[in-house]
Amino acid sequence: MKYFILTLEVLFAGFFVLVGCMVLFGLIETFRELRTLAQLRCPRCKATYGRATARRSKAQYKSDLADEIRRLRAEVGEYDDIDFFSHEWPVECPRCGHQVYYDASEKKLVPEVEAK
Ligand SMILES: [Zn+2]
Repeated sequence: MKYFILTLEVLFAGFFVLVGCMVLFGLIETFRELRTLAQLRCPRCKATYGRATARRSKAQYKSDLADEIRRLRAEVGEYDDIDFFSHEWPVECPRCGHQVYYDASEKKLVPEVEAK
């Protein structure tokens, strides 16, 4: 019985360590994505985006995604059109207003995006 409880404790501990690592990894990844974006330069005027723009663009992207989910849920009740794994969002240059997309998984700008 004592051995069984010990095993259970180890399992629980392992589980929490695993979840903790995933959360930590997620936070580090988000931090790196925003830091990289903040250091990138606008392809038109060469101004760096800065941390405020990086944070704002990501927040905007997340709220747009939430709106899109709400809209689709109201209309059709399914989300087939949403690519949850797409990690790309629009960034607007704070100086000249030129818009590009930031590919957060590749950590680079996507200058030309075909009009959909
Ligand atoms: Zn610019």
